[in-house]
Amino acid sequence: MEAIALVDGNNFYASCEQSINPSLRGKPLVVLSNNDGCIIARSSEARALRIKMGVPYFKVKEKLKKEKVVVLSSNYSLYGDMSRRLMNLLTKYCEQIEIYSIDEAFISINRPHDNNLYPWAREIRTSIYQKLGINITVGIGSNKLRSKLANRLAKKINTSSGIFDLEKINNEDEYLRKIKIENIWGIGYQTSKWLQSKGIKNAKELKEMNQYEIKKKLGIVGERIQLELKGYKCLPIEKVKKSKKEIRVSRSFGKPITKLEDLKQALSIYTITAAEKMRLQNLQASTVTIFTRTSHYSNSSYQKSAHKILIESTNNTIYLLKIVLELSKDIYHPDYKLAKAGVIMQDLTPHNYSQKSIINYPLKGKSERERDLIKTIDFINKRFKSEKITWGITVKKGSWKMNRNLLSGISTTNISRIPTIII
Ligand SMILES: [Mg+2]
Repeated sequence: MEAIALVDGNNFYASCEQSINPSLRGKPLVVLSNNDGCIIARSSEARALRIKMGVPYFKVKEKLKKEKVVVLSSNYSLYGDMSRRLMNLLTKYCEQIEIYSIDEAFISINRPHDNNLYPWAREIRTSIYQKLGINITVGIGSNKLRSKLANRLAKKINTSSGIFDLEKINNEDEYLRKIKIENIWGIGYQTSKWLQSKGIKNAKELKEMNQYEIKKKLGIVGERIQLELKGYKCLPIEKVKKSKKEIRVSRSFGKPITKLEDLKQALSIYTITAAEKMRLQNLQASTVTIFTRTSHYSNSSYQKSAHKILIESTNNTIYLLKIVLELSKDIYHPDYKLAKAGVIMQDLTPHNYSQKSIINYPLKGKSERERDLIKTIDFINKRFKSEKITWGITVKKGSWKMNRNLLSGISTTNISRIPTIII
């Protein structure tokens, strides 16, 4: 019998920071979102101090100081690298893997003769802790939904040591009753409100609910959730992520901007990143959309977008920059403090299937030279793991650039930032 396990890194961002800087182990620690806005991760020590997830940093700054909580800006290159290492290690222990998020993966495994997967799960936990310094939780079930529930139970039950197999217990209903309806994978806020109004408060009650009533109100998605709760397998492991429909790069500014020059600079940086992402996945876009808006808290609100459909699909940074800079005049407004902007590359197709324009044909020699140039830039930047070579417009100091004042400064992707041990 095949089993599915959901493996999940505990307090992932906080654990990455503690792993790379052992002096932070055992200390309360929080990680902040972009622009040092809100708390997005807490070490278990910070959880114990009842520091809440999602609260704005400025609101709890004093409390954190008083409690001597370590506060760090998010270091996504570190978390991304640790995630890659985690997923690579996991592949050794399973038949199939579906990477579900930065710190979560569904893995499938055939059950041994004695049905007992605990020794297997313990070995994964030990190995990941030894190699990455990160604790993981392993939830095991007969399908994806039940592995999610098992993972939740493993975290809830103190004696579980981070492992729970939902198929190896006799009193399943007792455990399902512990899982609130709003915490079931796939049940959104509205759906949980409706179910609660029908008296359905936990996973056990959802499992036993009238299936026709579910199907009538929630359609096939609701029916699928109930079937998986009952143990049927409805969702396969998706080995390869479906290719993306669009690539979006957008950020909130460190400070609101009012100058067209700053907007152009921000959009250029996002365009360069978006084009790089397309080339990395061998994709090209035939529609480019840009947008900007004021803060959600601002009194005078403004938002605008503009797009251009291209004659020929491309992932050429030089060409895309020209388009974006031209379009940026259409969305700019001098009277508003702009808080966010972004670039979206749409109608993506694989690079090989390009429709060549007849009009642009005489420029072929030039576009080939440009392609070689960009290839070289990508190569150099990849080799040195940073933007050694970029476009002039991005270099000027922009006051709007993201605040990351509390960055840990340690990285596993940059050789000069590896910690030094002095004996
Ligand atoms: Mg996690």
